[in-house]
Formats: sequence, structure tokens, C-alpha cells
Amino acid sequence: MYSDLSLDHFMQGLKKRNPGEREFHQAVYEVAESIIPYILDNPQYQHAAILQRMTEPDKTIQFRVVWEDDAGNIRVNRGYRVQFNNAIGPYKGGLRFHPSVNLSVLKFLGFEQTFKNSLTTLPMGAGKGGSDFNPKGKSEREVMRFCQSFMTELYHHIGANIDVPAGDIGVGAREISFLFGQYKRLTGEFTGVLTGKALEFGGSLIRTEATGYGCAYFMEHMLNNVGDSIKGKTCAVSGSGNVASYCTEKINHLGGKVVTLSDSGGTIHDPDGIDADKLAWTIDLKTNRRGRIAEYAEKFACDYHAGMRPWGIQCDLAFPCATQNELEDDDARALVANGCRAVAEGANMPTSVEAIKVLQAAKLIYGPGKASNAGGVAVSGLEMTQNSIRLAWSAEELEERLRNIMADIHRQCLRHADDDGYTNYVKGANIAGFVKVADAMLAYGVM
Ligand code: NDP
Repeated sequence: MYSDLSLDHFMQGLKKRNPGEREFHQAVYEVAESIIPYILDNPQYQHAAILQRMTEPDKTIQFRVVWEDDAGNIRVNRGYRVQFNNAIGPYKGGLRFHPSVNLSVLKFLGFEQTFKNSLTTLPMGAGKGGSDFNPKGKSEREVMRFCQSFMTELYHHIGANIDVPAGDIGVGAREISFLFGQYKRLTGEFTGVLTGKALEFGGSLIRTEATGYGCAYFMEHMLNNVGDSIKGKTCAVSGSGNVASYCTEKINHLGGKVVTLSDSGGTIHDPDGIDADKLAWTIDLKTNRRGRIAEYAEKFACDYHAGMRPWGIQCDLAFPCATQNELEDDDARALVANGCRAVAEGANMPTSVEAIKVLQAAKLIYGPGKASNAGGVAVSGLEMTQNSIRLAWSAEELEERLRNIMADIHRQCLRHADDDGYTNYVKGANIAGFVKVADAMLAYGVM
């Protein structure tokens, strides 16, 4: 039935079934390009139509979220949960609150999550959800009322053994706390139904830091593989949220120097490096005072480039840690021209398909997010384990586990990464992530 599994034919069918979902098409294309040759060599997957099944979410839930703002106006947003694939464990993946959220964005994120969660070696399926609600500029009470209304529908669909959401863009510790409180109120149950919780009620140490730390560790592994390391390198980091902040912290620990951070307004360039004190000030600015990165330039007297991304600034290593498609082909050409050697993605799909081609053609080392940012979901998995056994591990133990998981993901990628002598981490991550999920689906039979 699926005898024609050419990339073009497959993508045509996918686009027809999911019209206008540009981000989802892009995420599937990136995977299909490396998976289809592998499937053709392993016909059991082709006969069972595994790729066709893996690109169709198990279930998509969309709902109305009504809440009242401080002025007494009734506001209406849209909420979603895409339960993508639970072949290897309960659905697991973040919630994103941002005006750009739509089904296409969540399907791309849920699809990516399938491979990422598989790579962590932990028993986690894949999901993603969120809302087009914008927490920026809202009062604490407005965010609380929104979160309570959102959970009042979502709680029907989640559970510690069913689907365990976490944070993502716009959903940090504050939002997770409001969501968890409402879940607990509605169900009368205290279970590990969300991760990223505060330490007082079942959260895990290191979860906040995990995605950024993991990304820096993954870069270190990619460099060690060619006899190099982060030590002494000039690094460009984009974003100034959770992932960017803790990626910067771990780069500092590993002896690198971070010279940029950014937000949707622009980029700061601090050639002296963003040390621990400057970073602590930035984390306070972004998480507590909810300010703009431009204020960093005023505070520490460095350049601010309004409306610009960091990629035109000279660096040895680049870490896109803000959002999808923030590194496009011109940016990639600028990185190559400036002598950048490697890119590790902290964000999900920050590099466009064309930009990946530019980086790979120039033989840069390129670590795709599904491998390099998997540290966050890995520690979420460890939070689930701690909740199940009703114990809390120490920060040292958790960081050791995170380090080992990132090393293991790197090893899994290498197993399938050879591309005529070039280490192609895209191919490596896609194939390694695919095999575990695909084999579970084969074992279950046709469903
Ligand atoms: P945060 O909300 O903490 O930070 C997001 C950062 O990205 C902010 O600095 C924000 O700036 C910036 N940003 C958002 N949109 C744009 C844009 N269009 N252009 C430029 N900058 C933008 O989110 P996280 O740090 O948690 O997430 C960042 C990325 O990492 C996302 O792709 C997310 O999916 C991914 N990720 C996160 C994980 C986690 O554990 N948190 C796990 C794995 C992946 P501004 O303040 O101006 O909006």
C-alpha cells in the first residue's frame, strides 16, 4: 500500500492532510529526510506504515478558555493539548502560553518531542499543549485566573499515568503552581501530574537548570568528539529566558565566555562576557521584574542592537535558545563567515531547514534540539520518578544523572550519524529516536 515512500510523495500527502501547518510540515520534513532512507533499508517499518502513523497525533484536544481580567472584561482564549504518541510511556511535554501558539506550532513541538523523549532513554511518550494567551503585561491575578480556567478543562485529559505536562515559553514556576493548585482542587488528588513544580510540592532540584545545562553538556560532548572543548571559546547565546540563562551558566562553568543574550526586542553584546553576577542580575530582570534585555546594556554599559539577532557577532560557538526559526540562512552564512565552529540548539527548531543545509555544507558541528535540549524533559522524567517513589534526590545526584543522560544521548546519536565522514547529528538523533518508538508500535500490532 505504501510502496512509494519517496520524500516528495510523503510530504505531499502530509501537506494535503494538514493544510497550512507550516511549522509542522517543517518539523516532519527534517525528520523524514533522514528517516525515509533508513525505513527503505528496514522494510518492516514501511510495511507497517510506521512513519505515516507517527506523523498523525494520537489525539488533539482544543477548548475554549474564558477568564475575567482585572477591569471585569470577559476574555476568551483558545487552549490545546496535542497527545502525540504514547507508545513508550505517558504523554509528556510542555505547555506554551504565547500569542503565536496554534495547532501547527503544537504539532511540530509534539512531533519533535516523540524523538527527544525516546532519546532520553526514559519511559516517556510525547505531547505538547498551550494557549494563545499572552502572560506579558498581565497581572499576577489575571495569570492565576487564566491558569485556573485552562486547567478546568485540561484536567479531564491528563493524569500521572496518562499525560504529564510541564512548562515551556511563557509557562514557568508561577504558572505551573497555579495549574497544579487547580488540578489538585478539582480532583482532590496530590499526584505528579505536572513537572516543573516548586520544591515544596513535589518539584525536582535541577529541573529549572536542566535544559540549559544539558545543552552546554551536549556541546561539550560534540567538541570532545573532535578533541576540543568549550574552554576558552567565545559563545553567542540567543534568548534570555530559562534555557538561555542556564545554558550561559553552564558555559561559564565549563570555561567558555558568553558575549550575547537577546529577546524579541534585540540583542546585547558584552565582549567582556556575562559572568555569574551579571547573569544573576539578568535572571532577576527576566523572571521577577519581567523587564527587557535592553536594560542589561544600560546597566552594564555595552552595545544593544535593537531588532537584531546575535548571529552577526563573532563567536566560536552558537547556542540558539529563544524560539523556532530564529536562525535563518543569512544568519547561518554570517556564522560560517565569522568562523563559528559549532551550533547546539537549546530551543526547539530554532534553525530553519535552509540554515541547517548552510551549516552542514560548511561542515560545522550541528546539534539539533531534539538531542541537545533533551536535558529538560529528562529531568522532568526524573521528577516523575521521584514523585512515584515519594523521595527527593539531591542536586548532586540529579546533575550526575543529567550528565550521564546527555552523554548517553550523544552516544546514541553517534551510532547512526556517519555521513561520508561528516558527523551528521540530525540523522543520528532522528534514527536513534525513531527506532525505539517504531519498535514499540510494531510490537502492539495495527492500531
Ligand atoms: P522563556 O519564556 O523562559 O524564554 C523565551 C525567550 O525567547 C525570551 O527571552 C523571549 O523573549 C525569547 N523569544 C520568544 N519569542 C521570540 C522571538 N520571536 N524572537 C526573539 N526572541 C524570542 O522560554 P524557555 O527558555 O523555556 O524556552 C526557550 C526555547 O527552548 C523554546 O523553543 C522552548 O520550546 C525550548 N525548550 C524549553 C525547555 C524548557 O525546559 N524550558 C525544554 C526544551 C526546549 P521575550 O521575553 O521578548 O518574549
